[in-house]
Parts: sequence; structure tokens; C-alpha cells
Amino acid sequence: MLRLYNTLTRKKEVFHPLKEEEVSIYACGPTVYNIPHIGNYRTFLMTDNLVRILEYLGYTVNLVMNITDIDDKTIRDSKKAGMSLKEFTEKYTEEFFCGLDMLNIQRASSYPRATENVDGMIELAQTLMEKGLAYEKDGSVYYRIAAFPEYGKLSKLDFNSIKVGASVDVDEYDKDNPRDFVLLKASTQEEIERGIYYESPWGKIRPGWHTECSVMSMNHFGPSLDIHTGGVDLIFPHHENEIAQSEGATGKPFVRYWIHGEHLIVDGEKMSKSKGNVFTLPELVEKYGGEVVRFMFMSVHYRKKLDFSDSFAQNAQNSYFKLRETLENLQFAIKGADDNEYPSDKEMIDLSGNLEDDFRNALEDDMNIPKAIAVYHELSRISNQYLESGRNKDVLEKLLSLYRKFADTLGIFAQEGEEVPEEIMELVKIREQARKDRDWDTADALREKIAQEGFVVQDTCEGPNVKRQKR
Ligand code: AMP
Ligand code: ZN
Repeated sequence: MLRLYNTLTRKKEVFHPLKEEEVSIYACGPTVYNIPHIGNYRTFLMTDNLVRILEYLGYTVNLVMNITDIDDKTIRDSKKAGMSLKEFTEKYTEEFFCGLDMLNIQRASSYPRATENVDGMIELAQTLMEKGLAYEKDGSVYYRIAAFPEYGKLSKLDFNSIKVGASVDVDEYDKDNPRDFVLLKASTQEEIERGIYYESPWGKIRPGWHTECSVMSMNHFGPSLDIHTGGVDLIFPHHENEIAQSEGATGKPFVRYWIHGEHLIVDGEKMSKSKGNVFTLPELVEKYGGEVVRFMFMSVHYRKKLDFSDSFAQNAQNSYFKLRETLENLQFAIKGADDNEYPSDKEMIDLSGNLEDDFRNALEDDMNIPKAIAVYHELSRISNQYLESGRNKDVLEKLLSLYRKFADTLGIFAQEGEEVPEEIMELVKIREQARKDRDWDTADALREKIAQEGFVVQDTCEGPNVKRQKR
């Protein structure tokens, strides 16, 4: 039974999805105004791990992640770069996807863009206004927090004790209450001149950040969904505001399980430009390789701070190499294995079965991946021990298949031992050329042909990636 720590109740709860057959997850995605830092990717990876664990446990997952392609920062920095907002955000959306590939993060089923969902945001603002939960002032539309008594149920903040000026923007005198947040923002003259505006019943506006996530999640899943993820910094105000908007509009519970990942810090300190300790993913991948970075991020439980340092990275790298070496040993041994020479070994088979139970139990306990990695090391240890004494093919196959199952669940060793036949590689090459020539029909036909042969091609930023289809 999977148990997840729900920020809403501050408890580990048994996970029951709304629909037996499919789990709905909405993840807050990137604001595409620069290359995401490694902390952002730690959080994106947490969601990927959640998806993989759910799949391992037999669920089908529908993950939606938004792309924030319009906000103060994207507008400001696109201007600085002398680019249109669209050109600018496209560039960083591509960067974001490249990072996902580097970490072997599986793609979501959909990446809706804020700019493509403004109609829905205007509708939401209208609904909230009809219900007395929103009001217009000077062309902007605000949420009236005082009209939603449950405000604060996620963050558990005591709003009576919050001093205005400390955490509330006192510059925004135009609101009825300084804590009220913006749903739709009146466009400035400069934004209008740059064409960054949408027509609404209240004039030219652009969307607010909180509004976009409520709208895009409900567009895909309806009023209620299973899981919503993000970093801890989003609990307040972003997710608190999403609840106020969605539940205020529909009267139904919005999200059943709120999952938040702790932050990544560097050498004990918060990452910040002024301290010069902000790392981007390509920098780290260059140094350690994508799989090691992924493994490193996974080696700390998602609800604990990850204190990144070179020595931390080295330790994770050593642990990763140890596991990989055993995989290579098993692959090598199986080639020369002979059933007749060595008897089967019931004890080993039983032992590996127990380890699979331990592995699953660890993951079911609020995604305890560090514990699952410890079980993986135990599997590695007994495998190496067995290789010294026996080489029965059945036993080796059992060990190797479990080894691969653990690897797939953790999203590592993606390439190891994948023997892609030459004729398939030839088809991949021809397809690459067709793609370069923008001959999409040929490229699609070749993808289909490759699939018929049992292989999948993924187009990543580093070129095509070919894998045998999961059976
Ligand atoms: P942003 O692009 O700023 O909207 O952030 C994307 C995601 O990264 C959000 O889920 C944030 O909560 C998360 N995030 C931001 N800073 C960190 C950090 N230092 N460590 C882990 N996650 C972070
Ligand atoms: Zn969001």
C-alpha cells in the first residue's frame, strides 16, 4: 500500500486515486526566462520519481506540467534580450526539455502553456466575480481572500499575525486588502505596445501566475485531481491561492494529495546569484554525467534538504559506479552461463524475492528512495557473492531481471546492455536525415517501422535515443 505525505494534513496517508485505472497529477512547471537551476530540476525529478513509482506499482499515470511563458520576469527579460516574448520563451522552453533529457525524466502527457489558456482564466475570473470572490480595480481583477473562509488550510499560516509589510506587498494599495492576490493584471502601456495583452471584459489584461495553474489543471482533469506537486516554496502563496480559486469556483475539493519537495542548497547555503553559487544542470552534467546527477539527487529523501557539494557528488558517484559494475558483471556472466554445470540455488531465488519486497516497501513508504537504493546495494552484494560461487543460468537471469527492474524504477542505467542491432541503427540514421530535411512523413514512417521491430526512438536534445520497447 502506497503512503504519501500530504501537506494538506501534514500526515502520511494511504494513497487512493479517484479513478482505479488512472492517477491524475499536475506539476508546477518552469517559468521559462532562463536556464533552470539544479534546484528546479531536483523538484522536476521528484515528480518523475513519483510517476515511475506509481507505474511500478501498476498504476497508469496522466501527468500534466504547465509552462509559465508569461509573467513579470519573462516580459522583463525578453525585452532586455531584444526578443519577442514568444521567441524568448520558446528558447528557454527548449532548454528546459534538454534538461529533462539529461536526467532521463519521462515526458508528461501534456505541457500546456499559460499564453494558450487565457480564455479559461478570464472565465474563471468571471465565475469568481459572480460568486463574490473577486473584484475589479483599475483594470485588474483580484481575489477577495476574506470571502473564502478556508484560506490558509494548506499553509496553516495564521493570517491574523502576519504583519503587513513583512510578507505582504504594501506597494499594492489599489487592492481592498493587501493580501488579496491578482487574477488578471491590467496590461501596462509598454506591454500593450509590445503586443503582450489579451482582451477581457475589464480591458486589456495578462494572466496572473496563480490563475494559470488552477485553469490548466482543471482543463485537463476537471474540478478534482489526485496529486499536485511542486517545491516547498510554492505552498504559500501559490498553492494556497490555487485552492482558493479552484474550490471557490467549483465548490469541490481541488487536490487530494499535495506533495512538496524540499529545496536543494549549496554548501549549506541557499543558492543565490549574489553568492555566486547557482549551478545550472548542464554545468553539473558536464562534470558528472546525467545519470550520476540523477542518482545523486535521488540519494536524499525528497522531504529533506539536499546540501550539494563536491564531496557529496563524489560519494553519490561512487555509489552509482558500484551498482553499475555489478550490472556489467551480471551481463557478462550470463553470456557464458550453463545450467548443467551449476545447480539452481533456491536460497538465492528466495533471497532476491525478499529483496524485491523490501524495495517495494521502501518506495511505498512515502517514496523512500534512499532506502530503496540501500536494498539495491544489497542485491548488488549478493549478486557479486553468487558470481564467485555459482553461475546457474536461471539464477543469474532472475538476479539480472530484478536488477533491471530496480534500475527502470529508479530511471538509471537506461543505456546499459541495450543491444540495438545494426539494421535498426541504420533506420535511425535515415530517419535523422529525413528529420533534418524536414521530411516528416518519411520520419514518421521510419519511426513506425522501427517500432514494429520492437524499438522506440526518442528525439532528445543530444540526438535520437533508441531503446528496446518495454515488454
Ligand atoms: P520556477 O521556475 O521558479 O517556477 O520553479 C520551478 C520549480 O522549482 C518549482 O516547483 C519550485 O518550487 C522549485 N524550486 C525552486 N527553487 C528550488 C530549490 N532551490 N530547490 C528545489 N526546488 C526548487
Ligand atoms: Zn503552479
